Amino acid sequence: MNTIHKIHAPGDGASGKRRILVVNTGGTIGMVNTAAGYAPHREAFHRLLMQMPELQSDAMPLWDIVDMDPLLDSSNMTVLEWNAIGEVISLHYGEYDGFVVLHGTDTMAYTASALSFTLRNNAKPVILTGSQIPLCEIRNDARDNLITALMIAAGDQVHEVCLYFGGRLLRGNRAIKYSADDLIAFESPNYPVLAEAGIAIRYNDAALLRPARGSFSLQPLKNVPIGVIKVFPGIQFNLFDSIMTERLRGIVIETFGAGNIPAHADSLLPIIRKASDNGTIIIVCSQCPHGTVSLGAYETSSALKNAGAISGYDITTEAAVAKLYYLFSRGLSKREIRARMEKSLRGEMTS
Ligand code: ASP
Repeated sequence: MNTIHKIHAPGDGASGKRRILVVNTGGTIGMVNTAAGYAPHREAFHRLLMQMPELQSDAMPLWDIVDMDPLLDSSNMTVLEWNAIGEVISLHYGEYDGFVVLHGTDTMAYTASALSFTLRNNAKPVILTGSQIPLCEIRNDARDNLITALMIAAGDQVHEVCLYFGGRLLRGNRAIKYSADDLIAFESPNYPVLAEAGIAIRYNDAALLRPARGSFSLQPLKNVPIGVIKVFPGIQFNLFDSIMTERLRGIVIETFGAGNIPAHADSLLPIIRKASDNGTIIIVCSQCPHGTVSLGAYETSSALKNAGAISGYDITTEAAVAKLYYLFSRGLSKREIRARMEKSLRGEMTS
């Protein structure tokens, strides 16, 4: 069960102070060293938070913390955990001005993408952050990531799901984990940085989404069977034949460059055609982090289009996966899902 721990900064109750809910899901930021390596530890993390004078400062918003149970290494996240995070935010949406989601870095871009879709008509800042080095270590990136994420969540510039890490605020559904060991671990290759935290936090106003109109609601996700295939030279497509059944609802194909696949004898095409005939939605993404898919630019991609695949343009694989879950969970027809996959719903693609 998730319980909220009230940890108000001094000045608690002062009128005009913004209120932020920190949703702790786990990840390196709150881990401690155990015999088996780093693992999440709620009490130790809370003790460390209470020892940070910055978090009790008058310059900070009022903040409370809710811990997911169990706390996870983000490699263990599933749609169930995405739903649980969405439920906490939805339940407390009216009480808080913004949300900070503490999360492991490994799948943070997936969760950020998923929340960007499931939090419908979200007008509040939802800032995911974490760290490469836990808060318990003397030299760490956890402290700055947490403090700055709280400040951004307490401001009134952001009205969308973002990821703050290493001094940069990125659109959540445009982010990818780029480095396994750099403190600047995330990139947004196809969309500008939303804010840079230098001496001051400088927002890129033109790149930020306007506040959504309409009333906020949560769309829970269903765990629909979807897949991802990464194409490589010499790929034996026939090996994938057995997964292309009616059960497979959607598949993301990570192609070369602008959407190209090898055209050799046991080509992907018959398999794509089979999937398409089965009603599977096929999204074409690029293995290049930067740039866009352009189906039909080359002979090797025209065939994909003719076989019924849809262009994902410059969407990340993370966002494509999350968007498929979201659209299938809304109970839309195949035609509606195809149409929505090709256009931007939350600023996740340039189509
Ligand atoms: N394995 C960790 C996680 O994703 C890595 C991290 O947080 O940086 O939960």
